[in-house]
Amino acid sequence: MKSMLNQLEKEVDSFYSTFKDDPSKTSAWGHHYFCKEDGSVLTYNPENENEHQCPLCGEVYSSPLLTRVWRTIYRNEAALTILKAAVLYKSTNDKKYMDTLVSISSFYFNSYTKFKLHNKEDEFYDDLSDFAWGCGRIMPQCLNESIFFIRIFTGLELVKEELPEELLKNIKEEFSEEFFALANPQVNKVHNISCWLNSAIGVIGLFSENKKMIEFAFDGTYNINRQLREGVTEDGFWYEGSIHYNFFTLEGVSYLALFAQRYEHSFEEMDVIKKMLVAAYNYAFSNQELPNPNDG
Ligand SMILES: [Zn+2]
Repeated sequence: MKSMLNQLEKEVDSFYSTFKDDPSKTSAWGHHYFCKEDGSVLTYNPENENEHQCPLCGEVYSSPLLTRVWRTIYRNEAALTILKAAVLYKSTNDKKYMDTLVSISSFYFNSYTKFKLHNKEDEFYDDLSDFAWGCGRIMPQCLNESIFFIRIFTGLELVKEELPEELLKNIKEEFSEEFFALANPQVNKVHNISCWLNSAIGVIGLFSENKKMIEFAFDGTYNINRQLREGVTEDGFWYEGSIHYNFFTLEGVSYLALFAQRYEHSFEEMDVIKKMLVAAYNYAFSNQELPNPNDG
């Protein structure tokens, strides 16, 4: 435990000491971050946003597009840093970590609508009156943006009682409304992306006591209960037919299950989540490895 905390301290201190982001810098889709020669994922170097090296052949790539993918990875690190700082604050009571998480999260909440709406196809939009399905602001897709905010809110939830009034007020009155306006029209079918978006809407809704968001996530047309009822097979497997999507979906809905439990909000299909977790054990091989057909 002690060594884990020491490691977290190193990571948080190192990220925060140079933390710098800007809404004018746009992000791009992670699937561009591969070597053209051999298909390896390029190495993310937190200290250099302009050079991206292939770990296999050593080729160093540089392009504005790759720098924008670097920004996506960097922002994920920012969200994880908030989560880590919350854990550190809870375990050490060192105010430095509270300041770190408030400072990074306030930056993203305060500048949220200054980030330009865009999707992974790199189409840009001026405002919410006209935008394509898939758009995010901080991230290249609403899917990534939902994951980004679920991580941030999981951290904030840990220290909620001690968060500054101003931050809570901003989340409640401005940020949650803006996020909901972006995400809710994109929940349009039974699909892993709809599950993640519903989860983010539900998590943020419960945190900020936003009735509209809570109702949408649990009772809207493509609500989370319907997703689990229609998207999970009899034997507890997500219908998109890949082990990856099964666990990816399960991860998303588990955060909402956790928040529903904390806020004592009913979650009709909670048992489906439990069934999916048990099913995973049953289809693992005897050496504990999972089969990996299709996008595994
Ligand atoms: Zn390579």
